[in-house]
Amino acid sequence: MTATAAPPTHKIEVENPATGQIVASVDVVGPERIPELVERARAAQPGWEVLGFEARGQLLRRCQKWVIDNSERIIETIVSETGKAWEDAQMAEVSYAASAFGFWAKNAEKYLADERVKTASPFVKGRKLIVRHVPVGVVGVIGPWNYPLTNSFGDCIPAMAAGNAVILKPSEVTPLTALLMGECVRECGIPDGVYQVAPGFGETGGALVDAVDFLMFTGSTATGKKVMERAAKTLTPLALELGGKDPMLVCADADLERAANAAVHYSMQNAGQTCISTERVYVEAPVYDQFVSLVTQKVGELRQGAPRGPGSVDLGAMIHPPQSDIVEAHVRDAVEKGARVAAGGHRSDSNGHFYEPTLLLDVDHSMAAMREETFGPTLPIMKVADADEGVRLSNDSPYGLQASIWTKDAAKGERLARRIEAGAVTVNDAQINYVALELPMGGWKSSGLGSRHGADGIRKYTKKQAIVITRLAPKRDLHMLPYSAKRTKLIARMLKLVYGRGKRD
Ligand code: NAD
Repeated sequence: MTATAAPPTHKIEVENPATGQIVASVDVVGPERIPELVERARAAQPGWEVLGFEARGQLLRRCQKWVIDNSERIIETIVSETGKAWEDAQMAEVSYAASAFGFWAKNAEKYLADERVKTASPFVKGRKLIVRHVPVGVVGVIGPWNYPLTNSFGDCIPAMAAGNAVILKPSEVTPLTALLMGECVRECGIPDGVYQVAPGFGETGGALVDAVDFLMFTGSTATGKKVMERAAKTLTPLALELGGKDPMLVCADADLERAANAAVHYSMQNAGQTCISTERVYVEAPVYDQFVSLVTQKVGELRQGAPRGPGSVDLGAMIHPPQSDIVEAHVRDAVEKGARVAAGGHRSDSNGHFYEPTLLLDVDHSMAAMREETFGPTLPIMKVADADEGVRLSNDSPYGLQASIWTKDAAKGERLARRIEAGAVTVNDAQINYVALELPMGGWKSSGLGSRHGADGIRKYTKKQAIVITRLAPKRDLHMLPYSAKRTKLIARMLKLVYGRGKRD
């Protein structure tokens, strides 16, 4: 999906894409109102920062409990604006938010504590050197529609834990969850102005880029480029979490039953609308037929429709109906170039918006389905001669978000993983790294810039400050003006002594 322009309205009519019904009408915060929100955020931030990690952590833990206490309501809200399966909202959203509140409450201080460093420079030895991490002030978060809690609100949590105020611009398609989380932070005692929501379109996002001290963007690569271009005008620092085309490489010695279950789950979960979805599969020739037969049977068993509570469907709707155009175009292009549709292949917009779980065989890299992000419930499977060809084709992509390798030989799996050009690689698993918040999560190549989670996932919301404290020192250092031949020679001797031996320190 790419950017949508604001239609001439001051309301967003939120549609449940699984039923076609309008579930809410939300006031748009236009770009002209962003300065007012930023001013409120700037007024609230110093008090929030001064509270310190312990007190902020307590409030974040209250939010964690609120999320669990209100999980049904949150899931219902997510399902109502996305049409996704109940379990997709539970596992990948509510569970993520609950875990993230606790993780950042516990670890923010550890990642952001002052660091004492030692120097090898003879000119600075003996001084006290400190690295400080100072909250940037006001963070803007712009999110996509596929995970309104995890990929929009989720990035606000470490930003707040670091002591910043945050303004979230959720996708215009799914603003309701972000607004509900406003209720969470209010009820849990986070001060007014620390978390604000700006429902709106691309132009509201643009105004946010101009006005904040750091911008966290999650969305398509095309919009990410526009955001980066705009950020250059104000030198707004930013991180970009963008699109992907995650490959799965199935070796002949893989546990095929597990690999097939995973291929189906990780390509179809959230109806394939996950940045780290498995978007293409390479299978070593000796097990190709068996793997395809397993996957075909499993895809055939999936149930799709409007979610009506837990366990009611496996696949929900196409969250943003225009995305079906892209899925349809990729399937059509593949078929025109010789691919076979082994399951699914149809779109339906008569009663909600759906695209069938679709299996594509006889695919190759001339097809968009193997090269561009499809972001829908499709699974193209390609036969490869060996793992080397699989690695080469996995890397033959502008994207580098994630990948997975499947083999019973763990050492071989790790060797293959190290050859993959992606920000994360899993062996005999997929996507699961996302819930290990200690690990960095960020794309290589056109999949992004910077990362979320781990130390960088919170340090990016801070400015570094280096402090040097000199206590005992002569009236004049050796290098100070005025220069003299004698001291210059002394410095030359010192340089030779320290750096001229060609040895390790
Ligand atoms: P999108 O790029 O169309 O929109 C994302 C957000 O950007 C929306 O809030 C939109 O209103 C806003 N926006 C649009 N134009 C803008 C502009 N000119 N300036 C500032 N903001 C602007 O993305 P989408 O269709 O909502 O989401 C799907 C995409 O997100 C997919 O490509 C998916 O891979 C990606 N995604 C990536 C990750 C990740 O972690 N890497 C996670 C989830 C989704």
